[in-house]
Amino acid sequence: MPYYAQRWQRAQDAMRRDGIDAVVLAPSADLYYMSGYAAKPTERFTGFVLPAAGGPSLVTPAFELARLSTEFQAAVRCRTWAETDDPLRLTAEILRAPGGGGRASGRRHIAAANQMWSEFLLGLQALMPDAKWSPAGLVLTPLRMVKDDTERRLLAEAQVLAEEALRHLIEAGFAGKTERAVAAALVDARRAVGLDPTGSAGIIGSGPNGASPHHMNSDRVIARGDAIVIDFGGGHHGYRADITRTFHVGPATGEFTRVYETVRAANAAAFDAIRPGATCQSIDAAGRTVIERAGYGEYFTHRLGHGIGLDGHEPPYMIAGNTLPLAVDMTFTDEPGVYLPGNFGVRIEDVVTVTAAGAERLTSFPREIMIVD
Ligand code: ZN
Ligand code: ZN
Repeated sequence: MPYYAQRWQRAQDAMRRDGIDAVVLAPSADLYYMSGYAAKPTERFTGFVLPAAGGPSLVTPAFELARLSTEFQAAVRCRTWAETDDPLRLTAEILRAPGGGGRASGRRHIAAANQMWSEFLLGLQALMPDAKWSPAGLVLTPLRMVKDDTERRLLAEAQVLAEEALRHLIEAGFAGKTERAVAAALVDARRAVGLDPTGSAGIIGSGPNGASPHHMNSDRVIARGDAIVIDFGGGHHGYRADITRTFHVGPATGEFTRVYETVRAANAAAFDAIRPGATCQSIDAAGRTVIERAGYGEYFTHRLGHGIGLDGHEPPYMIAGNTLPLAVDMTFTDEPGVYLPGNFGVRIEDVVTVTAAGAERLTSFPREIMIVD
């Protein structure tokens, strides 16, 4: 587990800096990031505890111990609980244990996973009424935002697979099919190229439905003259893809072309603004200004982009108010859009990564208007 031990070390450095005695994680991308254990959250508690010094522990249902490799069990102290035991009591005991570099006595400062069911967090809080609680994102977000070489490679590969799936979808054509049928074909296309569609149904927003950025696919039949917003992701060794392209079925109208070129220019302006040290809000502003100047500002109703990694949406967020400066190897989406109610929507979404010189796109799919069948 040397790959993960480096992350424990970095997390522990941050914990000592912030006076945090222990981090407790539940099944989530955080747990996978810190241990490679891809457990799903269920009503049976699984918890990973990392003290400020010393090795981590995993609280796990006893009958799930067999899922953990001998290598894992050698590096992470596994504490099992039987069906009739109380796993939160066991976890609170571990969190209370002195040593661990934190204060041996006095008020414990525990950082609990941003993604933990409230029944577990409230239970732990009731068992440790004197502890101070913070979100574990304080420790983990700065680590997870900056991708290492392996993570960047997996994100780039995920994006390549998504583009391949999108090409298959376009070849099959859209006219005469329902949004739901296209979405089903998109699930098959992702499976065919080896991208796991779990967790991303895919958005097929045709005609006026494209004006709802998070449209729920319907039985609307796609026809010539429709614009179609297609947005989907997928998993590749835990890392997420995310791409949006907007197509036109048959020849495009002047208005569609005008909006499309505005969104394409906004996507390019945001990309051009990316460099180490630039704030997240300045990237949003760079894209938004282009759309506002074209007179469509009120129809760009969401942030410009979101970080991407083990979670499809994660920090950093490109949004007004976020003064976080970008750093090399942060990876996020560049996805401006314009949504005209009752008419159509346009969104163009790439995944980009910050480099010393500026930025690089992990998405290479053409951004020019594409007329499809
Ligand atoms: Zn996105
Ligand atoms: Zn997307």
